[in-house]
Amino acid sequence: MPTKYDIKYLGDYINGEFVTSEDRSGVIVNKSPGDLNDHIMDVPFLYDNIDKACHFAKVEFPKWARKTQQERNEYLHRLKELFITHEAEMSEAISRDTGKPLWETMTEAKALSQKIDITLNHSIKLVAEERIPNALPGVEGVIRYKARGVMAVLGPFNFPAHLPNGHIIPALAMGNTIVFKPSEHTPAVGQLYAQIIHKAGFPRGVFNLVQGDGECGKKLVINESVSGILFTGSYDVGLRIKQETLNHYWKLLALEMGGKNATVVWADADLDKAVYETLVGAFMTSGQRCSCTSRIILHDDIANEFTDRFYEAAKKISIGHWKENPFMGPLINAQSVEKYLRFQEIAKRENCESLMRGKVLDLKYKGYYVTPSIYLVSEYNEKSVYQKSEIFGPNVAIYKSSDFDESMNIVNSTGYGLVMSLFSKNKTLYDEAVFKSNVGLLNWNRTTNGSSSRLPFGGTGKSGNDRPSGHFAIQYCSVPMANLEDPTPFDSSKVLPGLNYGIK
Ligand code: NAD
Repeated sequence: MPTKYDIKYLGDYINGEFVTSEDRSGVIVNKSPGDLNDHIMDVPFLYDNIDKACHFAKVEFPKWARKTQQERNEYLHRLKELFITHEAEMSEAISRDTGKPLWETMTEAKALSQKIDITLNHSIKLVAEERIPNALPGVEGVIRYKARGVMAVLGPFNFPAHLPNGHIIPALAMGNTIVFKPSEHTPAVGQLYAQIIHKAGFPRGVFNLVQGDGECGKKLVINESVSGILFTGSYDVGLRIKQETLNHYWKLLALEMGGKNATVVWADADLDKAVYETLVGAFMTSGQRCSCTSRIILHDDIANEFTDRFYEAAKKISIGHWKENPFMGPLINAQSVEKYLRFQEIAKRENCESLMRGKVLDLKYKGYYVTPSIYLVSEYNEKSVYQKSEIFGPNVAIYKSSDFDESMNIVNSTGYGLVMSLFSKNKTLYDEAVFKSNVGLLNWNRTTNGSSSRLPFGGTGKSGNDRPSGHFAIQYCSVPMANLEDPTPFDSSKVLPGLNYGIK
């Protein structure tokens, strides 16, 4: 299928220019998961480029950090205008790299410029300099926030522009420099992002891009010049990054990881809304969102009606190529398809009933298309692999419980703690959920998916390390510094006992 914008391999972006090399450590064969005949480009990568990128980012750091806020904002405002100019191109690049439908990727492309507005108009206030009169008797205190240094940003495939951007913008605004490694599944988006940054005219070395695989990510996080690692991806890789950097005590880790999110639908819920919102939660992005609904816990009184309606609606979901604007595109690769099918076998082995079996779809465009799946869980089992694992596909498990405490125990049972949704008209129940849920985001009468950049975004347990992103990202991109400012002359009456110190 013809595309509007050409994508050609340009190389890594280091110290203000795209560089290519005859040497290579490996190559990414970048084919669209929605159409395997769409061979976007081959991306050779070179591990040596990581050290080079980190070196230049480190050299540039003091100069960029020294600029005034106003000066840095001017670059970011230029970038904002360019993000807007390139929205259609970015949307298409995301669709080709991920297979996500155009309507969805346009929302992602638009979020890039919005993040700049929110950061500069709102989030920056969280790190505003604060003067504390009499911080000590007669002494003025100041709280200042300073940039950290070189920030390594590691992106996931599912939101290849918006999520790295969520780290990069606040980091740049604070005066940090960047080495960005996009997911190996979405190199075209990473490259376009770097092209737009280049157009904005940032000083050389402020932003750098290195393409590559997981090994490249590892080499980046252990680079001695890196001061902070801003990671969005799976729990397994987040854990590995923690292990890889155990001796690098100075490195700030912001780990935004996976989810196994639950929606509780109570007897008094608006069922029209609950079914619709949960459908969107479970199957949007083909289940490939950290915030997708993986588990639905239904009050007995509405369980049958909800399940019937949910099943009927799931059957009708349109699946197809990103240009056809279906609701669901493909999974990202063959391994994801294999994992999706394998977990359904595990569900069956663990005595879950298959209400809707997810299958591989053969469409006009050859890609990694699958149909949604729904499994009924008769009993919560803390040893169940199916009930506790993030599948990252369009699969949902349905439970029944009319005991709210039992429902909350199921919500909190997976080790992940990203999002919970509650559908009920009862505010007291919502208050109970606020208190009892072990999650970073709790939505009342709306889907688990979607979040506001005006709010923090992060989870507990296997979902994150208590460094929420979103509105709060600016906090981990900066170091608080305390200053005591004492303008008073020496006072001999305050000399401590035993010092025998006086004015001659
Ligand atoms: P992933 O963990 O496989 O990869 C993420 C990035 O880490 C990639 O750039 C990859 O190359 C890099 N990487 C791999 N091994 C590495 C290593 N040893 N050291 C350093 N970097 C390494 O994730 P993915 O499959 O691209 O994305 C899906 C996952 O991301 C899901 O688990 C999803 O829930 C999670 N996610 C979380 C959030 C959030 O905000 N909490 C948002 C989106 C996605």
